[in-house]
Amino acid sequence: SKASVKGFLKRNLFVLFTIAAVALGIILGFALRPYNLSLREIKYFSFPGELLMRMLKMLVLPLIVSSLITGISSLDSKASGKMGLHAVVYYMVTTVIAVFIGIVIVVIIQPGKGSRDSPVANGGNIEPVQATDAFLDLIRNMFPPNLVEACFIQKTTVRIDLCVKRFRPQETVEEVVPVSGSSGGVNALGLVVFSMCFGLVIGNMKQQGQALREFFDCLNEAIMRLVAIIIWYAPVGILFLIAGKIVEMKDLAEVGGQLGMYTVSVIVGLLIHGLFVLPMLYFLVTRKNPYSFIGGLLQALITALGTSSSSATLPITFRCLEENNHVDKRVTRFVLPVGATINMDGTALYEAVAAIFIAQVNGMELNFGQILTISITATAASIGAAGIPQAGLVTMVIVLTSVGLPTEDITLIIAVDWFLDRLRTTTNVLGDSLGAGIVEHLSRKELQNQDAEVRNSVIEEN
Ligand code: ASP
Repeated sequence: SKASVKGFLKRNLFVLFTIAAVALGIILGFALRPYNLSLREIKYFSFPGELLMRMLKMLVLPLIVSSLITGISSLDSKASGKMGLHAVVYYMVTTVIAVFIGIVIVVIIQPGKGSRDSPVANGGNIEPVQATDAFLDLIRNMFPPNLVEACFIQKTTVRIDLCVKRFRPQETVEEVVPVSGSSGGVNALGLVVFSMCFGLVIGNMKQQGQALREFFDCLNEAIMRLVAIIIWYAPVGILFLIAGKIVEMKDLAEVGGQLGMYTVSVIVGLLIHGLFVLPMLYFLVTRKNPYSFIGGLLQALITALGTSSSSATLPITFRCLEENNHVDKRVTRFVLPVGATINMDGTALYEAVAAIFIAQVNGMELNFGQILTISITATAASIGAAGIPQAGLVTMVIVLTSVGLPTEDITLIIAVDWFLDRLRTTTNVLGDSLGAGIVEHLSRKELQNQDAEVRNSVIEEN
């Protein structure tokens, strides 16, 4: 009937806008390609997209801090402990499954088989990053010595700058800067750890902590209202982000042979994990339809595709989960910031595929121990990767060095990385979101108990 069509349109207006924006962006991008725009012209053209990135990143810092602090301080310690445990188990299990899928696929497809047809690396002397150092760096980042500084720049981000410059010495700095994303970078991991501890402490402070709890609760609410405004601009930004990238990308015809098969391997792996494994897991735990849940996430997924940053997508992910899928705010506030920082299934899968691909290209036979090492380091590398564009490409150095593969061979896969980055980021966001749904389901008893307690205390007061 007319009314239901109207209702459907109203509910899905943003999603329709966003999908239309993607389609328009693709059309516009291909229409402009024949004009061979210069880098500068492309930059001007993508400006509305750059603005969207900036707006989203602007919200990330206050959003992570306020949502984690209110989320945790509003839960009693039993509920938050249980929820945290569920979340961590989910993150670990899904990441390990993702790595496993990646390994199986790359071993079956063998994209790197045959003689080396890709250009030989030109990077030269890249300083190898020791796996131990990278691991210690991860732990180090959990404890930022200066909180204010942690809000500005992330150590790993700086290193990304250096690596990318070394990997692509022939390219202009202009092109390198947006890759690192360091301008909007925060040490998310450090802030997550701090906010969790802070939330726990003020949650236990009873009456004394009241003012701080209300402050952060109010801050969180205000930020979410800003998100609601930015969402109106998102389709415009996404249109230009996608169109700009299509104008800028190299000719697809260049991507043949081994690199093409490698790209296919990563895509197949991500599709299996994102469209089959994760939804099945959601269904098994909750007995609800995973695909209608995913339907509510469309806008976040498209934003991930457009921005290739799970951090920048975080504000939209929050909104989709809370407004469309009605996931309890106590759950989203707690698990989403953590998930966006450490849970990256898509990145883990990609790291495993890429490392084994590089081994195949070098004609290196990997034994079981080496494959195990790759799975472990790929998991660690995905945890360590920041939620910013192409972070996974850099943390892959850890995986490669752990089995003695040449790190400069990262240059072999750089040509397609911007594309795979978008797909793995979408998978990352999907994993975080389904995780929030699963954790909510598993923690429903604790949440209900807490609701009952609040109700009782209100009755007592009256
Ligand atoms: N861009 C990805 C993300 O933000 C990280 C990666 O490079 O794999 O989730």
